[in-house]
Amino acid sequence: MQLARAQQILHDTFGYHEFRGNQAQVVEAILQGKSALVLMPTGGGKSLCYQIPALMMDGLVIVVSPLIALMDDQVAALRAAGVAAGAVHSGTSGEEVRSLAEKIDSGSLKLLYVSPERLVSERFLRFLAHSNISLFAIDEAHCVSQWGHDFRPEYQQLGILAERFPNVPRVALTATADQQTRADIKHYLHLEDGVEFVSSFDRANIYYQVIEKNNGKKQLLDFIKQQMHGQSGIVYCLSRKSVEDVCQFLCENGLNALPYHAGLPIEMRSEHQARFTREENVIMVATVAFGMGIDKPDVRFVAHLDMPQSVEHFYQESGRAGRDGLPAVSWLCYGMNNLVLLKERIMESQIADVQKHIELEKLNEMFEVCETVACRRQQLLRHFGEHIEPCGHCDNCLHPPIRFDGTEWVQKLLSCVYRVGQKFAAGHVIDVLRGKNNENVSRWQHQKLSTFGIGEALSDKDWRNIIRQCLGQGLLLNDVYHYQALMLTQAALPVLRGEQTVMLRPLKRAKEATKVKNDDWLRTEREERIWQALRTWRRDLAKQENVPAYIICGDKTLREIVEKMPKNLAELNKIYGLGEAKIQQFGKKILEVCEPFQAA
Ligand code: ADP
Ligand code: ZN
Repeated sequence: MQLARAQQILHDTFGYHEFRGNQAQVVEAILQGKSALVLMPTGGGKSLCYQIPALMMDGLVIVVSPLIALMDDQVAALRAAGVAAGAVHSGTSGEEVRSLAEKIDSGSLKLLYVSPERLVSERFLRFLAHSNISLFAIDEAHCVSQWGHDFRPEYQQLGILAERFPNVPRVALTATADQQTRADIKHYLHLEDGVEFVSSFDRANIYYQVIEKNNGKKQLLDFIKQQMHGQSGIVYCLSRKSVEDVCQFLCENGLNALPYHAGLPIEMRSEHQARFTREENVIMVATVAFGMGIDKPDVRFVAHLDMPQSVEHFYQESGRAGRDGLPAVSWLCYGMNNLVLLKERIMESQIADVQKHIELEKLNEMFEVCETVACRRQQLLRHFGEHIEPCGHCDNCLHPPIRFDGTEWVQKLLSCVYRVGQKFAAGHVIDVLRGKNNENVSRWQHQKLSTFGIGEALSDKDWRNIIRQCLGQGLLLNDVYHYQALMLTQAALPVLRGEQTVMLRPLKRAKEATKVKNDDWLRTEREERIWQALRTWRRDLAKQENVPAYIICGDKTLREIVEKMPKNLAELNKIYGLGEAKIQQFGKKILEVCEPFQAA
């Protein structure tokens, strides 16, 4: 009964046809007054889990959220859907606070977003004690855990809610899944007796593409120009310097790119972030400082120009693409230098040895995802404890790399590493293999070695590739204490003795394997014109209302309008993402935009 009503609200207010994943179960549990822990991947639809109950229950839902931008965004989206919502944070004016307080008193406000530090202040708690609170929703609940990378000490104090409001249920939501974090959330927020909802972490609409780096910037430019032109995206780099460098390069090549890193003045950072969310084709080139709180649903690609330091980082960052459920791409370009640099960073960092060991393990896991010939999604999800069949739509599934017997090349490499005394880095080993008699080679008399010139047939690039694969397969190590010198491992011995073959990934990838799948929405010329007309209308309205375009309505909504060409308000009512408030506000206008294109 209650669920039918929830379904109705889903349709009438938010314009969606059905619940996704666990949403219905979570809504039901909350309506029954249960506390819960909800794990859903980014873009899974966590917000509706408490927003719909908020509209069905008596009283006010308090939503704890760690970032101002995040709160404002959610409130804007709710108001656009006709829901009475507000936010209180350091940027809220006194006037707004008073107006919200009145609405709370009169019982008309349904959702109030608040920062954790504000919520746990004695004054605020006392205020709440006199109000009718139906639920506490704690968003980004992983911030409670020191284990994660977004630790916020104030979150740990939220445990006080259980003591002060024992009869008000709490729901904690997060996209960070590991066991330790989960345990911390339950502990600090007193959710030991709560129901747990864990969704699959698969992001089916994201296409995963991993390529080997040879000229990263150029590869990135090609990827964007040829496959992502005019789309919003994020490019992640490892250092501030490379952010600046890559951003400049993209701009020089005619793209609309903006830099973002912790070294830039805060005003510039917020301006760039605002432009990214509001404009339609901005490419944000950033360090990992950029990310949490980016709720932009229509990010079409996330590119990593360097390998991330762990699978969790990779998944969280790439997960910012395609929150609206439309096709999106995660593009990763990795190379050996990258691996070496990250290892160096870990070894030089001021952390305990045990921790260094853990970090190195995580790095290796990420490297394995890059090197695998198996399904990428399978490898990624395994990391989160999920087992799936090969997905059929990642780069490896669509263009399976055929391994070849590379034993002979590998033997040459390993013996050369041995001959130079396991004291030289990759560059020098390659020079010897390729028979380059340069200054360094002659200084060490390496032109006299039996391995000098035995690898002439392959290019530098090929040799780097083989070395990287040998590092990946554990046949070689690089000595992080000694200028990255290559060294043999125990596993190298049987290969050298000819007792074991080594299979390698192809040295050159088939051309089509480096292309991402085309978005299958092909538009006719007429459809393209309608699409553009709708986008122009949306952009103008967004400007006028001073909100991001996606708050007006998402791409998926525009797409459905183009496909279905609604002729009247009743038909608009069936379009994805259009609830009653939006139809009332601009339904007529949409029909007007479509009108000239309607078939006679
Ligand atoms: P999360 O917080 O889990 O990352 P959001 O709550 O921001 O995800 O939801 C992601 C997007 O999916 C939003 O644009 C939201 O409106 C949309 N969405 C959520 N639930 C549904 C649903 N049942 N049907 C269609 N779209 C949905
Ligand atoms: Zn796959």
